[in-house]
Amino acid sequence: MLEVKDLHVTVEGKEILKGLSLTINPGEVHAIMGPNGAGKSTLSAVIAGKDGYEVTSGTITFEGKDVLEMDIEERACAGLLLGFQYPVEIPGVKNIYLLKAALNAQRAARGEDEMPAPEFMKLVREKIKFMKMDSSFLQRAVNEGFSGGEKKRNEILQMLLLQPKLAMLDEIDSGLDIDAMKVVADGVNSLRDANRAILMVTHYQRLLDHIVPDVVHVLVDGRIVKTGGKDLALELESRGYEWVLEESAA
Ligand code: ADP
Ligand code: MG
Ligand code: MG
Repeated sequence: MLEVKDLHVTVEGKEILKGLSLTINPGEVHAIMGPNGAGKSTLSAVIAGKDGYEVTSGTITFEGKDVLEMDIEERACAGLLLGFQYPVEIPGVKNIYLLKAALNAQRAARGEDEMPAPEFMKLVREKIKFMKMDSSFLQRAVNEGFSGGEKKRNEILQMLLLQPKLAMLDEIDSGLDIDAMKVVADGVNSLRDANRAILMVTHYQRLLDHIVPDVVHVLVDGRIVKTGGKDLALELESRGYEWVLEESAA
């Protein structure tokens, strides 16, 4: 589904990704772990097509298409979506309008008509209930005054509506209490499907107790230095990252 090959990325003249390769198949959940500043957020941002990143060499293909030739909207419409891809706060724009606009942009790109308002409202109500969110969220300006946990729930709500083929989630566990993390994890788990893949960036193993990954990668200094199964996350939690570095240098 997604193939990243020998990717080199520079931000403001500094090389951040230094030859990163990654293959994700449909149905798989991949976790990217690694120390601060390793390049984890850079990776998901580059795949999504955010501005400010220069790909100096390497390739990214998604369902056989050259992702680097597509702009951020085209990528989103093709099913490549990063949580919080949309601005963190949009003063004055009601959440419901953003959700509706995003859904209809996706439908338009597929040559489909807008979703009729009653159908949209029914769908949104179902999803916000699932995310244990209050319907008043829909009438508030996007993320304005939302707590950290509310923002994360809203991010997953957007994913549940847009149903991306590859959902990328960057540190959805940061700032969440246990109950909120369970709701967020339930939302992500409900996205799991044989035709969909999920790429999760996380610092901490605890999220992976709730969203059990198929594959765990360790990203250090711009490269994936180790790949394993879910047990690798447990090992990292108890041993840190140093040993992986030593092992990969040997
Ligand atoms: P991680 O998510 O693994 O903590 P990031 O991908 O956010 O790491 O950052 C990797 C490195 O790139 C860091 O050294 C960070 O300072 C740098 N970096 C990321 N984004 C920018 C930017 N917009 N401008 C300058 N440096 C950046
Ligand atoms: Mg990083
Ligand atoms: Mg990050």
